Amino acid sequence: MSHDHDDHHAVPADIALRVKALETVLTQRGYVSTETLDAIIDAYENRIGPRNGARVVARAWADPDFKARLLDDANPVIEEMGLAGVEGTDIRVIENTPQVHNMVVCTLCSCYPWALLGLPPSWYKSFAYRSRAVSEPREVLKEFGVELDRETEVRVWDSTAERRYLVMPRRPEDSAGLDESSLAALVTRNGMIGTALV
Ligand code: FE
Repeated sequence: MSHDHDDHHAVPADIALRVKALETVLTQRGYVSTETLDAIIDAYENRIGPRNGARVVARAWADPDFKARLLDDANPVIEEMGLAGVEGTDIRVIENTPQVHNMVVCTLCSCYPWALLGLPPSWYKSFAYRSRAVSEPREVLKEFGVELDRETEVRVWDSTAERRYLVMPRRPEDSAGLDESSLAALVTRNGMIGTALV
């Protein structure tokens, strides 16, 4: 499911026809069955949502060893949890701290950690977000209701077909004593894109 940035960021009006044509060729030649395609679409539309990412963040909040491994190389950790996606991309987890706030964008199109967050929200794919997240990230964050201290550095990570990012929000200070599933319930999709605090 990887894609080439250069030929798809202007989405053609006849995209549905192109998808249909591609599906027909792939299924007629026996590369993929329609049942497989339906299962993939169902998975990303209905079964996988931001809860997978929230489970990863909650476990990292609760378990320092897990967190260290996750920040070092997220891919084997995500695979162990059974959350690796079909897109076969490199996932990197980046941690928010009092000094650094991270936010994620795909400036060329809409690359996104599907396996952890499901399908991207429409604003993530909008031209305004893709351009302004880079040119004026603090303004964009303000519009999302995120006010940062002036001393907090903002880092913007540009996703690609090969590498996608998940933000680990800061653990709320009043969350001591909560178990992993209660922690996971605090973690929002936008928190993991970096456009919200938790
Ligand atoms: Fe993209």
